[in-house]
Amino acid sequence: METIVNANGTVRNIIGEQTIKDVEYRLLKYTLEIEVEEGLLLDNVITGQIVLLTEEERSILHLLPRKPDGKMNQLISDYFLVPEDFNEDEFVRGYRSILQRVERNKDKPITKYILFPTTNCNARCFYCFESGLERINMDEATAKKVAQYIRDNAKGKQAEISWFGGEPTVGMKCIDYICRLLKQYGVNYASGMVSNGYLFSEEVVNKAVKEWNLKSIQITLDGTEEIYNKTKNYIVHGNAYERVMNNIGLLLDAGVGVTILLNLDYHNCDDLFNLIDELALRFKRYKNFRVSSHVLFNDEGFEKVHHTVQQEEELAELNYRLADYMKKVGLNGQVLGDVRYKKSLPMLRYAHCMVNDSGAIVIAPNGNLFKCEHIENDLMSTASVDGGSLGQAELEEWFVGDEEEQCSECSLFPSCFVPRKCIDHAKCYPIDAEKKKEGYKDNISECYRDYLRKRSEGVESQTNSQLEE
Ligand code: SF4
Ligand code: SF4
Repeated sequence: METIVNANGTVRNIIGEQTIKDVEYRLLKYTLEIEVEEGLLLDNVITGQIVLLTEEERSILHLLPRKPDGKMNQLISDYFLVPEDFNEDEFVRGYRSILQRVERNKDKPITKYILFPTTNCNARCFYCFESGLERINMDEATAKKVAQYIRDNAKGKQAEISWFGGEPTVGMKCIDYICRLLKQYGVNYASGMVSNGYLFSEEVVNKAVKEWNLKSIQITLDGTEEIYNKTKNYIVHGNAYERVMNNIGLLLDAGVGVTILLNLDYHNCDDLFNLIDELALRFKRYKNFRVSSHVLFNDEGFEKVHHTVQQEEELAELNYRLADYMKKVGLNGQVLGDVRYKKSLPMLRYAHCMVNDSGAIVIAPNGNLFKCEHIENDLMSTASVDGGSLGQAELEEWFVGDEEEQCSECSLFPSCFVPRKCIDHAKCYPIDAEKKKEGYKDNISECYRDYLRKRSEGVESQTNSQLEE
């Protein structure tokens, strides 16, 4: 066999090579098979290794289970073939928890910050998941402590700040102040933002680029003019939709990466197709423009939306149709979390998001610290920029995974980890698992084409290094 992508170094080091025994072997259930012109690619979803099989090895797959002969040795050493009684679920859970322990014990600089300058918002979306949140702005004294906290904890590394809220631009003065202080302290930082985009203008965009070092922004749209204005329900007069669309253009012209997030539900599903047409017309030419979509969360907001399981499944399918339509009209678009976007390859994962990263923290407007961006409604925590620490038990809880009934039988099981406490996590329906597999297979094929290109230039195979990033 020919190795296209080497196994991930960390995983390979902890699991080692599999010892060959005189027992019957079968295919590891966590593998993906991808046909290419030159033969069959096999992807090991635990180690991340990708190989191209020889014709002889390929024919062995049809003869399993069988005892090892010389031709099976490499496939066994690399865990593509496992003994008939091998329990891969336990194997994955065991090594996942070892990797999690390693992560929890890391003493890393904190380089990722989700900062809430405010929990106030100028819009009143009926589905807002923060409907119960106490509304406050960060005051100057707290902002100063936040800047000092970043200076002391980033430890000379670049701080990546994501401005969050509420609507972060409602707390623009606080953002200005924190950035001014960071510059004074010599902290290297770049930022992103989750915003409704309404309060931008030419002047604010210039400031955002120069002072906030704003590189990317996510703006939610709910539909074309009428549906958007009704849904956002801003406390302003005039056409908010047109203003936000103009601001998107200003941000794109200034080189900021703009991702439009479409919130899909029954009230706007038809209209979102019209919105995609409009977005394509106005912004398709920008390389820094992309669109993603997701289904509105169940049972959240001022006016809670409730979906039955059947409706959830139907909406999941609609969401994929929407993403297909984005591609059809030439937009760089996908459903939220599509593995194609990051070109990621499947392998054993122990982390879902920032809650599993010891180098990431959330700071509320009162200076209190959290792990998850869905902060407590009363903004209370045991830790703050003034001191104190997050409890060990609480930190550990973020490493307790949630599994769907069908997960351990799904070939992607090693690569899926979601904390049970994550309230943003949507159920994985059969269509989601299928689409995820398709996405990974596309990435693997792309990787293979890349390998062929590099091989013709004499460059060695790459390593699946995602875990170390
Ligand atoms: S069913 Fe979904 S969540 Fe479960 S392992 Fe498969 S892709 Fe992952
Ligand atoms: S809501 Fe879920 S995805 Fe978002 S930060 Fe919290 S745990 Fe992570």
